Amino acid sequence: MTVTLSPPHLVTSVIHVGDWALFELVFLGTSASAPSVHRGLSSAVVMCNEHRFMIDCGEGTQRQLLRSGLGFRRLDKILLTHGHLDHILGLGGLASTLGRWEALEELNIYGGMSTLARVNGLMEVVFGPGQIPNVGIELNLLEPGVIFEDKHFSLSTFPVQHRGPDCFGFLFAEKSRRPFLPQKAEALGIPPGPVRRDLAAGNPVTLPDGRTIHPDQVLGDAQRGAKLCFMGDVSHTGSLHKPAHEADLLVIEATYLDADKELAKAHGHITAGAAARLARNAGVKQLVLHHVSRRYRMQEILAEAQAIFPETTVANDLDIFQIRKDKALLVKRAQYAEPGAENEEYAKSDA
Ligand SMILES: [Zn+2]
Ligand SMILES: [Zn+2]
Repeated sequence: MTVTLSPPHLVTSVIHVGDWALFELVFLGTSASAPSVHRGLSSAVVMCNEHRFMIDCGEGTQRQLLRSGLGFRRLDKILLTHGHLDHILGLGGLASTLGRWEALEELNIYGGMSTLARVNGLMEVVFGPGQIPNVGIELNLLEPGVIFEDKHFSLSTFPVQHRGPDCFGFLFAEKSRRPFLPQKAEALGIPPGPVRRDLAAGNPVTLPDGRTIHPDQVLGDAQRGAKLCFMGDVSHTGSLHKPAHEADLLVIEATYLDADKELAKAHGHITAGAAARLARNAGVKQLVLHHVSRRYRMQEILAEAQAIFPETTVANDLDIFQIRKDKALLVKRAQYAEPGAENEEYAKSDA
């Protein structure tokens, strides 16, 4: 799997590029409710092998896709956390571009019932009444459980609470694997090469001396793989401990600070502190906060979360993460000066 890195004007600093990772995550927009100078509206892309999953598509996502270097290629699956406008308005422009200018063979959009109803209305404006089935767009109803699977990973959804019905989070889980134990292979006199590869793949082999070796003889116990838990807007964290349990990377909103927790409650959001407590109590390895409000400085959000859960990052637009078992890395950090709260004229309620 490769990630096309950003064009030179956006390459700011490469913190670390590690080994191959199954999951890569690119943030396209990290602002709550309305864009700011430095943050677009919610959108991210998770890449697993040849698959790309966009999660949410706020206004301005098309340009962020281009700025990230990802472009429109292989963009055929869009998952929606919920139907608020700051998470779906970019679908109109993106679908228009894909439909008119880029080769759009199939675009699968996944969401809850009320989310899809809103998206359906948006697509009817873009393509005309009744045209959705003719332009390659498929609206897929999300229900909790596994929605996508290949031999390396599974993608499942789970319900989250926010304002309104049909809000979902997403769990990308690498399938468990049994490690190959070379010392056992040595003891059995199994020569290096294709025979060991077959055994590592779980297939029995017959050696030249006639012995049949079963994979169980050289494989260790199954170990869980990498786990990426991605959530958008949420109002309560109680039910989220289970899906977030021991995630190598947990992504979740942090729209407010604890000082404004009554506001958070009133608008169906959580605070950076609540996100950090979830990460700590669920045994998460790394926490990444997004959907941040323009009313705060990034340092304030980070400080509140890190006091509870030190392994916290506040995502910037165009940040890239790689997620492996027991290790999630920020491989490219988009940097910008942030002199203060970005806009005094913030919206009263963050969507
Ligand atoms: Zn919302
Ligand atoms: Zn939102």
